Amino acid sequence: MADTEAVRKERGVDMILGCIADDFTGATDLANNLVRAGMRAVQTIGVPAADEAIDADAVVVALKSRTAPVDDAVRASLAAARWLRTHGARQIYFKVCSTFDSTAQGNIGPVAEALGAALDAGLAIVTPAFPENGRTVFKGHLFVGELLLSDSPMRDHPLTPMTDANLVRVLQAQCRSAQVGLVDHRVVARGAAAVRERIEALRREGKTFAIADAVSDDDLRTLALATRDAVLVVAGSGLAIGIPALHGMAPRDEASQLPPPQGACAIVSGSCSAATNAQVAAFIAAGGAAFAIDALRIAAGEDQAAQALAWARSRLGASPVLVYATAAPATVRDVQSRLGAQRAGALVEDTLARVAEGLVAAGVGQLLVAGGETSGACVQRLGITQLRIGPQIDPGVPWCHAAAQRLHLALKSGNFGGHDFFQRAFTLLR
Ligand code: ADP
Repeated sequence: MADTEAVRKERGVDMILGCIADDFTGATDLANNLVRAGMRAVQTIGVPAADEAIDADAVVVALKSRTAPVDDAVRASLAAARWLRTHGARQIYFKVCSTFDSTAQGNIGPVAEALGAALDAGLAIVTPAFPENGRTVFKGHLFVGELLLSDSPMRDHPLTPMTDANLVRVLQAQCRSAQVGLVDHRVVARGAAAVRERIEALRREGKTFAIADAVSDDDLRTLALATRDAVLVVAGSGLAIGIPALHGMAPRDEASQLPPPQGACAIVSGSCSAATNAQVAAFIAAGGAAFAIDALRIAAGEDQAAQALAWARSRLGASPVLVYATAAPATVRDVQSRLGAQRAGALVEDTLARVAEGLVAAGVGQLLVAGGETSGACVQRLGITQLRIGPQIDPGVPWCHAAAQRLHLALKSGNFGGHDFFQRAFTLLR
């Protein structure tokens, strides 16, 4: 991937940041942070066509690669990087989950290794820290609120159970040949120059990646400054808060304005996180209309999507209807032991995606989807390729607008949002 300065000038575009997100809600979360800090950001669903030009300071390419087979994830990420570099991106930001969601096979390690090699990146820092959302990294260990990652509800995730909080060890185990070091909090506290020195020392030792500690927004700003000229960074959405200011940009309202909302309101939820379980319970307790999808009944051949849509049609209006597969960890384990985790996940995702498609066809114009994988399935099914990022509902979750579909859409990562998120979200749009 050669120098693209000439290409950038010739095309008259000036993209600063090219981002590759390993899931859809993560992409939105990152774009949201960039918009809040004053960058004009466009999120694309998958890699855009070769000749498509996008006028934005940052383009976030959303992939569905977090739990894809390793080779597929690597191939898609390299294609995204190629498009972004060809269209002028000076820095590639590989966006991973703030809880480092991955399996023993990857995909964070293999994708980061492939990007690093393709971009000739030297040493890249890796940090999922996002203190505003309670994700901090200390001595290489990831904390979720007060808990170590491995003690948090993430240990029960249906697809990517996280049972080790030591990210140096987690990332090292996923890498084929790269060595992983640590930029610890004492170095970060001494500022960007100290971080650069440490990065250089680790590079000389033969390291390719360094987990970087960050326990505050200031730490993230230090890391962003230290890596301003790095061609590759690997991070959660947190690091993004420090990047726009490095390019002379400041927060501004126009960056998040969307067209007025129209149509009925609906929620589709496939996340089984602790936060989403609480949000579903609060929605039902407040009298919200809700239809439960049962994975075992799908597996037995029932068309649960058709049943949900038949139920929803007469209820569509300004009050949101909820269709959910969200279940407690014990129920999910039981379903998985009967169907297998992958098959259960795929069946539920397919059903919820068909529900989302049917709801939009029936007049839903404001749709909230809970769950990263679930969002990916829904967005793909709806044929959405570009999203403009709007106002934030809760940290990490903005309303977006898909112009071609005339649809307002919010994609909520499982762990995000307060307990009354489902009720509050639609009020914000009005
Ligand atoms: P999160 O953002 O919380 O990780 P995801 O949508 O990414 O949510 O992942 C949740 C996964 O669990 C999806 O693959 C979904 O289809 C699956 N799932 C949802 N409900 C159930 C259920 N009741 N039993 C088994 N798997 C389920």
